[in-house]
Amino acid sequence: MTFPLLSHINPETGEVAGVAANLRFLENLKGYFLDETAYQQALQLGNPTIYSVANVEPAQGDGQLHYGLGRLMPGKIGREYYFTAGHLHTHRPAAEFYIGLCGEGLLLLQHEMTGETLVLPLKANLVIYVPGYTAHRTVNCGTTPLTYLGVYPAQAGHDYGRIKETNFNKVVLEVDGQPTVMDRQEALKLISQDKL
Ligand code: MN
Repeated sequence: MTFPLLSHINPETGEVAGVAANLRFLENLKGYFLDETAYQQALQLGNPTIYSVANVEPAQGDGQLHYGLGRLMPGKIGREYYFTAGHLHTHRPAAEFYIGLCGEGLLLLQHEMTGETLVLPLKANLVIYVPGYTAHRTVNCGTTPLTYLGVYPAQAGHDYGRIKETNFNKVVLEVDGQPTVMDRQEALKLISQDKL
């Protein structure tokens, strides 16, 4: 047992003691949001941190486990709630557990081949099994930071390219004050009606 077995996480701040978090800013999410005009307007006002992920990767190799502590800020671009870029695993069969810690949000799942989608709640006391071959993205539809753990096989790897090209079929918008899951095409119609 040669590597540290114990780590100390702070679910409120998204910090893991001794680990530098990776920050993702608004400018890093260019092309992801539904409403490009609202995105550009937001970016002119500033470039806030949208989320951070602190990855704990104590050992490499077959059978090893890693985890990330994610912290996604509350907010919206136009009607669309802040989300993470989302990814598939480079090693496609690799599954993952998502464990909600603080805040309220959703986890979008989308199978790479079938396109089948599922949207599940993510908050404290909920644990979600993300199967292999399934793209995943968190969405914060609350008013406080959403924090969670993702526990994944060491060989999983992160592939952002596929989602950057195709995005998710489902989006989460505020409609009549409520978080609402919609198909992307339906949502595009809604925001173009908003602008009339
Ligand atoms: Mn993952």
